[in-house]
Amino acid sequence: MLGKPWGRKRMLKQDDICNTSPLPQAGGAGGGRPGPRLGAALATALTLSGCVVAVGNNGTSAPPPAAINPKLAGMQYLYGSAEADAISRQAWNALVTYAADRVRRPQPDSVVLAQGASLESPRFVPCAGKRPAAVFDVDETVLQNLGFEYDDLTGRPDRDFPSRWRAWEQSDGHAVLPTPGAAAAIADLRAMGVTVIFNTNRDDPAGSARVIEAAGLGPAVHGDTLFVRPDTGSGDNKDPRRWQIAQRYCVIAMGGDQLGDFSELFNTSATVAQRRTRADGPRIAALWGRGWFVFPNPVYGKALKGSPDDIFPADRRWHPTGE
Ligand SMILES: [Mg+2]
Repeated sequence: MLGKPWGRKRMLKQDDICNTSPLPQAGGAGGGRPGPRLGAALATALTLSGCVVAVGNNGTSAPPPAAINPKLAGMQYLYGSAEADAISRQAWNALVTYAADRVRRPQPDSVVLAQGASLESPRFVPCAGKRPAAVFDVDETVLQNLGFEYDDLTGRPDRDFPSRWRAWEQSDGHAVLPTPGAAAAIADLRAMGVTVIFNTNRDDPAGSARVIEAAGLGPAVHGDTLFVRPDTGSGDNKDPRRWQIAQRYCVIAMGGDQLGDFSELFNTSATVAQRRTRADGPRIAALWGRGWFVFPNPVYGKALKGSPDDIFPADRRWHPTGE
């Protein structure tokens, strides 16, 4: 499931206009959103000039300020950049290499934390007698919700998130892409005998299967290789579904863009610093890239929070002398 829509608007200041990237939502004089062609023209103008004071304004009053969707930078990175493409492929390549090794040299334990385990003293569900499987989150892990996020960026900002998301779950799936490297990696896993299982917080199993198929990542069969939020009555907590999967399969690898895709223990209340410490614990740190594989998501999710004081350690702050 995605995070909440962008709700707050940041009004454009002159410095913003001169220093930011082209804005798909630059407002016209009437306060409305420009149509696609005007939007493209504005984007081109912004790109060429790097600084636009007023567009189509011949009077003394400034045009209504436009809003910047705070998700824009994350979208530029995740959906547009070569760097994010490379990170995604890096993760998938490492995952396939790791899984191949686990198939060649089976280990006694899965990579699913057992019930009652902690991040400080992790214990894992055993593998004896089980066939290998890999478990993946769906959204921004195996596929990118390009259509939904495009609408989030360019559509009206005052709309209700749940209804937009429900409509998205029911869509035909044409406006998604597999994450870079996902299709080949998932095919490789299946070819080496690893069952690919999707554990998503989407609500609709038919829509989930449809979008996975549309992205070229299927099959996904509800209750067998696809698990959705209502399956265990545990809300967004994926642990009960993971345990259900791990009863039947030896889960040799997991992939996700949120730490809750690995264990709900990451989602208990914590400050930004405490949360980071959880990922850094000695037993947990060893799992990243060795059973647990994280995909980048700077667009939404639990990673995106914190004031400057939350983010920067007190002993690592700096300003030029005299300022
Ligand atoms: Mg996700």
